[in-house]
Amino acid sequence: MTAVELLALICAAWLIQLALGIGVVLRRRRIAASVAPPPAAEQHAGADLAWPGWREFRVARRELEDVARTQCSFYLQPVDGQPLPAFRPGQFLTFSLTWAAGAAGEAGRTITRCYSLSDRPDPAHYRVTIKRVPAPQGQPDVLPGLSSNHFHDHVRVGDVLRVKAPSGHFCIDPDAAVPVVLIGGGIGITPMMSMLRWCIAHQPQRPVHLFYGLRNSDEHAFKAQLEALAAAHPAMTLQVVYSRPTAADVPGRDFQHLGHVDIDLLRKTVPHGRHQFYICGPAAMMQTLVPALADWGVPLADIHHEAFGPASVTRPVVPAAAPPEAMGVEVRFQRSGRTLAWNGSDASLLDFAERHGIAVESGCRSGGCGSCETRVLEGTVAYPQAPDHDVARGHCLLCVGRPTTALVLEA
Ligand SMILES: Cc1cc2nc3c(=O)[nH]c(=O)nc-3n(C[C@H](O)[C@H](O)[C@H](O)COP(=O)(O)OP(=O)(O)OC[C@H]3O[C@@H](n4cnc5c(N)ncnc54)[C@H](O)[C@@H]3O)c2cc1C
Repeated sequence: MTAVELLALICAAWLIQLALGIGVVLRRRRIAASVAPPPAAEQHAGADLAWPGWREFRVARRELEDVARTQCSFYLQPVDGQPLPAFRPGQFLTFSLTWAAGAAGEAGRTITRCYSLSDRPDPAHYRVTIKRVPAPQGQPDVLPGLSSNHFHDHVRVGDVLRVKAPSGHFCIDPDAAVPVVLIGGGIGITPMMSMLRWCIAHQPQRPVHLFYGLRNSDEHAFKAQLEALAAAHPAMTLQVVYSRPTAADVPGRDFQHLGHVDIDLLRKTVPHGRHQFYICGPAAMMQTLVPALADWGVPLADIHHEAFGPASVTRPVVPAAAPPEAMGVEVRFQRSGRTLAWNGSDASLLDFAERHGIAVESGCRSGGCGSCETRVLEGTVAYPQAPDHDVARGHCLLCVGRPTTALVLEA
């Protein structure tokens, strides 16, 4: 073997070793990502605590978050003084509010509503931020939003509220290797605040791009706090998008872009490479952005979204996932003693029951809170999209469920 051949052989062996080495490193990184420890949010004391049913919380503080005074934060501490379970940033709390007849201008009743946790986990308190919901325009005889206005007008420091443990699957992926794009529209900023504050506290090097779409500075929640965070953290970028700035709003100072958070803006501003996208906002925003991101080539597994109501997004995928239609099947509501024919015209079993005057409990109407969970005595129910709430075996969620066979329900 000549000296040149020997040198070539050594080089080849070195290159093979290098390639194998890189493979091992990459494999290790992938394994490390897949077995990554739970987020620090889950690691502090009390992480394994949760509570079944309702727990009482006292309002420790209230804080208005915008100039228009339509968004108010409530800080909550457990009445029993026991540790607070941590939660995963992006999760929500479920509240049960009861009032006597005459209050809120109508008959006494109990209602259930969900509110996202709007801060990172803190052993001292939970925080939710609630936007006042007015009556629809041009319908003066309709009452404004019951729960949100009750919180704003009647819930004071010292009051006690009944709360279910944090839940929901719209949570930030703890893999620090993947940059994050957070998109909040209006009050949809609340879960983004939780994710952002957690990321900055626990993964300060992880790139986080926050897009906040809203009308103008009047309803710009957390303005000073967001600006301070962006100034202090080089890995964070903040893009505020106003659709209707006031005469006093200054581009570049109050907002970076005019219009809406849309795919063109994301394509122009999000750096190249893989990102996890989290979106929460009005139906119109999500119904355009989610398919647009998919069209742009973002894998569906990297697009996460949450609706604050029944107007959820249809994911642009999988025809096989759609439940088979079950037209003309009978649905029996055992407790109510009613048997009715399902003709497919209702969006859900909850709408179906209510249209026929069957009283069933409900809350978020979007598969999140579990208030409408009902035992299925016979038959099967399917969901166009997997609900956020973990449905107990042998039960279904009426608010997002549709029958795939004849049904007997306990309700
Ligand atoms: C997972 C999740 C997280 C959420 N997080 C947040 C959050 O962080 N912050 C937040 O502010 N909200 C959040 N929400 C929304 C919240 O749960 C409530 O839906 C919201 O506060 C409105 O409830 P409400 O009781 O005030 O209004 P509702 O009483 O439910 O009324 C809603 C609207 O319907 C109108 N209306 C009522 N009756 C009629 C009728 N007969 N005809 C026509 N219109 C009618 C009302 O005037 C009002 O405009 C979240 C929702 C979910 C599912």
